[in-house]
Amino acid sequence: MHLELSGRLAVVTGGANGIGLAAARALADCGACVWIFDLERERPSERSAEFGGRGCPVDVADPDSVAAAFEVSGTPDIVVANAGIATYQGLTETTREAWDRTLAVNLSGAFHTVRLAAERMKERRSGAIVVTASTNSFDGESDLTAYNSTKAGLLGLVRTAANELGPYRIRVNAVCPGLIRTRLTEAHFTNPEVIRPYLRHIPLGRGGTPEDVANAIAFLASDLAAYVTGATLFVDGGQMASKFGTWSDETAEFVNAEWRLR
Ligand code: NAD
Repeated sequence: MHLELSGRLAVVTGGANGIGLAAARALADCGACVWIFDLERERPSERSAEFGGRGCPVDVADPDSVAAAFEVSGTPDIVVANAGIATYQGLTETTREAWDRTLAVNLSGAFHTVRLAAERMKERRSGAIVVTASTNSFDGESDLTAYNSTKAGLLGLVRTAANELGPYRIRVNAVCPGLIRTRLTEAHFTNPEVIRPYLRHIPLGRGGTPEDVANAIAFLASDLAAYVTGATLFVDGGQMASKFGTWSDETAEFVNAEWRLR
């Protein structure tokens, strides 16, 4: 049994960096022809050329931009709606602008991507869509009101789309990453006062890599997940299974950003 995507056309939004780039690479490694849709400033064509893919400048907040990109790429077999931003602001400090932009990119952007892809996939009666949600779809990490609201909202999109698109043999699932080391979270990883206590609550004792999430995305996009739709897959080192924390200084030490048993 292996993961085979030869002959499939895949689109990854927000694919020029972090989790999206790792997903694009993973899908290409499995044989898919991969398109990266990302903001022009992130040079999606250059990034995708690194692994033999193609790129298109897209702002997912703008449905015309997404529709024009699908015209160029053609109808995808696989879509990863992954583009996202985060603004750290307390509830009462969250500005109207930050709220609107976060919703426009994270929630409306995924909606435009999924809707336009599904329209095309329905004609073919096949397809696989993976949405990058978050553990924050479920919990209430402080200072991320707008972000958490969008990530919770994505689960409504995923479940409704899975329900409606199942008859067309289109599967729709979410990956829910925990703390993954990307530019979005780099400040967490470089601050020992943040990362040490944070990882105390991760049973596997470390932060995640973009590749950890990319592997789950590739699985959900592939025929190995042929009977999986409407699902949410945590890729969080066990974070959501841990209530009061896993690691203690009595039995473990924190070395190289990782908790290990002595
Ligand atoms: P990242 O900043 O490295 O990548 C995000 C990508 O989205 C960038 O390439 C960016 O240019 C692109 N993007 C932003 N706005 C866009 C727009 N309007 N149109 C098109 N592309 C746009 O961050 P990441 O950590 O790789 O995040 C990827 C996804 O994973 C996001 O949806 C994020 O919310 C989610 N996520 C990340 C973590 C984490 O710990 N890093 C955890 C849970 C969920």
